[in-house]
Amino acid sequence: MKTSTHPMAGKGRRFVERIWRLRMVGLALGFFCVASVFAQQGRGAVLWSLLVFHGFIWPHVARRAAHACVVPYRGERFNLMIDAAMGGFWVVAMRFNLLPSVLILVMLSMDNIAAGGLKLFLRGVAAHLLGMAAGLLVPGFAFEPDTRMPTIVACLPFLIVYPLALGWSTYRISKKLAEQTRTLEGLSRTDGLTGLLNRRQWEILLADEFERCRATCYASSLLLFDLDHFKVVNDTRGHQAGDAVLRAFAMLLREHFRVSDCIGRYGGEEFGVVLAGATVAEARSVAERFVATVREKNKEVGGQCPCTVSVGVAQCDESMMDHAAWLKLADASLYRAKMTGRDRVVTG
Ligand code: GH3
Ligand code: MG
Ligand code: MG
Repeated sequence: MKTSTHPMAGKGRRFVERIWRLRMVGLALGFFCVASVFAQQGRGAVLWSLLVFHGFIWPHVARRAAHACVVPYRGERFNLMIDAAMGGFWVVAMRFNLLPSVLILVMLSMDNIAAGGLKLFLRGVAAHLLGMAAGLLVPGFAFEPDTRMPTIVACLPFLIVYPLALGWSTYRISKKLAEQTRTLEGLSRTDGLTGLLNRRQWEILLADEFERCRATCYASSLLLFDLDHFKVVNDTRGHQAGDAVLRAFAMLLREHFRVSDCIGRYGGEEFGVVLAGATVAEARSVAERFVATVREKNKEVGGQCPCTVSVGVAQCDESMMDHAAWLKLADASLYRAKMTGRDRVVTG
């Protein structure tokens, strides 16, 4: 396979595949529209051969050619222009037979708009005109716009099936796009290392909980955790081992608290949990159990979490101006936990 330094190298392979499927359907059905006119007009072998090639062989040639391009997306857009030019050519070759001519030009334009908006549509119109000019040079000009019943019938499958195929293909793309958007939204909310909520999202939920407390006057408590002497882990075992400890600690938080407790990574080795509806006394007892669990894990030989943890607890109250004041109180408690020996819970 060719290697290239082009910034868009290899882009658009799925686009090529999608257009290939649509082109196979569209050109095969379009073949019967033009063929019915040619049969009626008794056209020669050269035009018939070209029609068979365009209807049944060209989609595969176009696909291969696009994939062989450094930027398959660009190659495919060029192929769409060849389709547009061929459309113009067939209109002249059919002597402007009204229904198939309109149908072919509309379907090709619909493809161009779907693939590249107004710009590609206008380029497509220019390509139609070029194709028509080529048609005037070779088969020559004749004007027989009447569409007879056999041609109307031959046009029906194209008229019915192709818009459905394009609609289905567009639906599948928008569904995939919606899934990707959901995934990206999830990623933008979570911390890459631990999978917990990241600080931004956690603070949004904290602020929401603060507003709820203020509106309903019920108790809620905030717990801030900071691993003790975590720097030593990094210094003695290396940063990657430090990362593993952070992941293990996040797992302990998940096991001990509920997802609805809003568990987030607040900073490097600092985590936060919001216990909705818990008084400071209730939060304290939950936190003390957790600190004891971490202490036990810490004693395990070769344990995954070789640190103890300090916790600051604060209950939301009406004297607080905003959620930042709530955080500040919990942080002050955490500071006191550190100052008074670590591995403990202090309430504000
Ligand atoms: P204290 O008991 O006072 O909290 O001591 P400490 O060593 O835990 O506190 P300090 O804030 O001095 O150190 C925190 C360390 O956490 C420093 C920083 O390098 C490390 N850290 C922050 N984020 C990450 C991370 O994502 N991965 C790893 N491995 N280390 C991190
Ligand atoms: Mg810290
Ligand atoms: Mg620390």
